[in-house]
Amino acid sequence: MRYIGAHVSSSGGLDQAVFRASQLDATAFSFFTKNQLQWYAPSQSKLNIDNFKKACVKYNFSLEKILPHSSYLINLGHPINDALKKSRIAFIDEINRCDELGLHFLNFHPGSHLNQISEINCLSKISESINIALEKTKNVIAVIENTAGQGTNVGYCFEHLYEIINKIDNKSRVGVCLDTCHLFTAGYDLRTKENCKNTFDKFFDLIEFKYLKGFHLNDSKREFNSRIDRHESLGLGQMGTLVFEWIVKNQSFSHIPMILETSNSKIWKKEISWLRSIQ
Ligand SMILES: [Zn+2]
Ligand SMILES: [Zn+2]
Repeated sequence: MRYIGAHVSSSGGLDQAVFRASQLDATAFSFFTKNQLQWYAPSQSKLNIDNFKKACVKYNFSLEKILPHSSYLINLGHPINDALKKSRIAFIDEINRCDELGLHFLNFHPGSHLNQISEINCLSKISESINIALEKTKNVIAVIENTAGQGTNVGYCFEHLYEIINKIDNKSRVGVCLDTCHLFTAGYDLRTKENCKNTFDKFFDLIEFKYLKGFHLNDSKREFNSRIDRHESLGLGQMGTLVFEWIVKNQSFSHIPMILETSNSKIWKKEISWLRSIQ
C-alpha cells in the first residue's frame, strides 16, 4: 500500500477537495484550507469542519495522509518586521485551521531573504517564526518543503533544512516534505539509481528519517540545477521516470503521503494509477 494523491482544488468547500481526491482513486491528497491568494479568510464554520471530516470518513482518507499546503503569500523569513509579523499571524491561523479539521500537518515553503538580509539570518527568522507558531498552537506538525532556490528563496539545500530544524524548540512538531522537482532544479541529481541513492544518503546524513513527512512527486520542465521551479507531468520533463519508481518502490517510504503537483491535472488519475502499478 502506498499513499498517493494530488493537490486538489477546494473550490466549493473543503469537502469538495476530499470528493475530488476520491475521484482520482487517491489514498492521500493536498489542498489549501483557504484561498491561498488572500491574507485573510473568515473562520471555518462548524458545519464546514464537520462536512470535511465526514467526507474523509466516507471516502476513506486517513487524516495523517492529508498534507495541506499553506498560502504562498507567507514568508516566515521576511526581512521587514511588519511583514514578518503579518506572515506569522497568517501562519498561526493556517495551523489552527488544520487543527480544527483534525489534520496532522501543514506543509509550507520556508521563506525568502529578498536580498535584504543574509541567508543565515533569514533561516534563523524562519526558525523563530516556527517556534512562535508552535508555541501558540497545538497538535499540527509544521512541514518545511525544500525549494528550487528560485529568486531569493532559502531552503534549497539540505543544510538549510537542517539549520531551520536545529533551532526548533519542539522538534516533535517539525518535519520535512521533499519535492522532487525542487531537488532536481536545486542541483540534486535524481536521474539514475546511483544519483537517487546519493541524494537521499546526503539528506539522511543531515536530517533524521523521522522528520520526513511527505513527498511532492513532480517532474521538471526546466533543466538540472537551473534553480527554476516549473513542474511537469511525470516522465514528460527533464527528470525521467526512474526517480518516481525509486521512491514508490522504497519500502521505508510506504507510510509517507506522496502528492502530485504536476502540470496537467487531467492525467492525475493516470499518473496515480501508474505509480500504484509500479510500487
Ligand atoms: Zn511542492
Ligand atoms: Zn514547485
